[in-house]
Amino acid sequence: MHRLPNVVQARSLATAVTRSPLSGLNAVARAKAEQITAKWKGTNTSGENVKNYIGGSFVDSQTDRWIDLVDPSTQTLLSRVPETTASEFEQAVETAKEAFKTWSRTSVLTRQRFALELQAQIRQNADALADIIVLEQGKTFADAHGDVLRGLQVVESACNIPTALMGDKIEVSRDMDTETRRLPLGVCASIAPFNFPAMIPLWTIPMATVTGNTLILKPSERDPGAAMMIAELCERAGLPPGVLNIVHGSVDTVNAICDHPDIKAISFVGGDKAGKHIYHRARLTGKRVQCNMGAKNHAVIMPDANVNHTLNAITGAAFGAAGQRCMAISVAVLVGDAKEFLPGIIERASKLKVNGGFEPKTDLGPVISPAAKARIIDLITSAEPEGGKILLDGRGIKVEAYPDGNFVGPTIIEASTTMKCYHEEIFGPVLIVLHAETLDEALKIVNENKYGNGTAIFTQSGATARKYEREVNVGQVGINVPIPVPLPMFSWSGNKASALCDIPFYGKGGIDFYTHTKTTTVLWKSEDALESRATVTMPTHR
Ligand code: NAD
Repeated sequence: MHRLPNVVQARSLATAVTRSPLSGLNAVARAKAEQITAKWKGTNTSGENVKNYIGGSFVDSQTDRWIDLVDPSTQTLLSRVPETTASEFEQAVETAKEAFKTWSRTSVLTRQRFALELQAQIRQNADALADIIVLEQGKTFADAHGDVLRGLQVVESACNIPTALMGDKIEVSRDMDTETRRLPLGVCASIAPFNFPAMIPLWTIPMATVTGNTLILKPSERDPGAAMMIAELCERAGLPPGVLNIVHGSVDTVNAICDHPDIKAISFVGGDKAGKHIYHRARLTGKRVQCNMGAKNHAVIMPDANVNHTLNAITGAAFGAAGQRCMAISVAVLVGDAKEFLPGIIERASKLKVNGGFEPKTDLGPVISPAAKARIIDLITSAEPEGGKILLDGRGIKVEAYPDGNFVGPTIIEASTTMKCYHEEIFGPVLIVLHAETLDEALKIVNENKYGNGTAIFTQSGATARKYEREVNVGQVGINVPIPVPLPMFSWSGNKASALCDIPFYGKGGIDFYTHTKTTTVLWKSEDALESRATVTMPTHR
């Protein structure tokens, strides 16, 4: 029988290894961990404390509240994350406020130069960033590279900032011009989830700073290492002290961000509970807020879909990153005879290799924590009493070299829309399969789901794809594309319960979110020198 790890077990394992740092890691992982500890200033992977980053310095926290960060493959204690104290937080905001005075007046070309240098720094250090992601988060090395590269694309798009910030100007009346300019907001904050420890900080750091703002970043307390390295890369890229600051912790630090009157805007990515809380609490102090939240992404498979492409796409998108992507395909809706695809999906899923993230040819690593594993297993287990059929069961998986890892194997459940495993975001390697008789029935299922992050349709019919794309109420649609995450020349566009934001992340939305516009109307009359009488009637600009 498989073991059901729980938080208590993880804690005792973590406590045990505290006495002997890194002994739980194999030779490859240990060498990477030692390199990180030796080379980087703000974080480490040898059981020591993660630092705050305030005013350009990596500083030890004086807190007495620490969060153990353990490797999800082995439960080895990698570092301890502080719950940044109230006075350290205040210092970070003060520093960011002070830095804003000069950074917001820095020329746009200087800010562009920073983005150009940062993209070079990230490229050069992509392996190191991927290493810490594997160690702290558990995903495979190749997938960790994807995490870094998708963030890097936002930095690259931020290099276009002089053009992106251009305003409008027209002569509105004789000799009178009105112009709009985009101005930075002030001190902004970014609160990140665990599942993309590099990409999500890179959604906000470049966009906030090139638009002239300063930023307080709170990475996930479960894997802040990549963000700490990125801070160091920002420094190398010429970002002045105080423009980016990093604080740590969980609810208390987040609440401090929501309540602080000097923070003007918050970008949040994470789960529903935290997102709704942050949105409502931060709006009370008048902040601009964007919250990207949970998902249940449906792929609709039509009988005419290309078999090989569809099977590969569904399997990769459902189980890659152990299902811990907000755009993972978590539901497959098989329309009519597309039910014939099911054995192929099961077959390909059952061949995926579950192992430690540094092991060659690994398809999926562990989930983030013993608590996450227990929750995923509970949701799988809830299916059968409700009438679901577990067609592929990953609950009992054993990974020989990593007996203490939080592994769940690929799991496929034939279910219906009334079941708990369908309604809740599982955020693990679990694919729910539903059947529909017609495209309209499939559309009804997708549109009635509360989430609207992403969806995909697999078909060879342009007409079917067009109808689906037009009628589906989901913000990001793929046609034969399983994870249609928009590149950063576009903006994120998840909708319904997946987002509480009027202005979306990155792209044009990112520029809009991090700036407000000012319009100025200027009159320089050509005959000014001759004018000697005041005009007293209402100006009409005619
Ligand atoms: P999470 O909500 O637990 O944590 C996200 C952040 O919020 C962390 O920094 C955490 O410290 C903080 N936080 C957690 N609970 C809080 C609370 N009660 N009050 C205040 N702050 C709190 O999310 P996670 O588990 O780190 O990430 C997974 C979730 O993120 C999934 O639901 C996934 O769908 C979602 N996600 C969404 C997107 C998107 O763009 N829609 C992208 C990535 C992840």
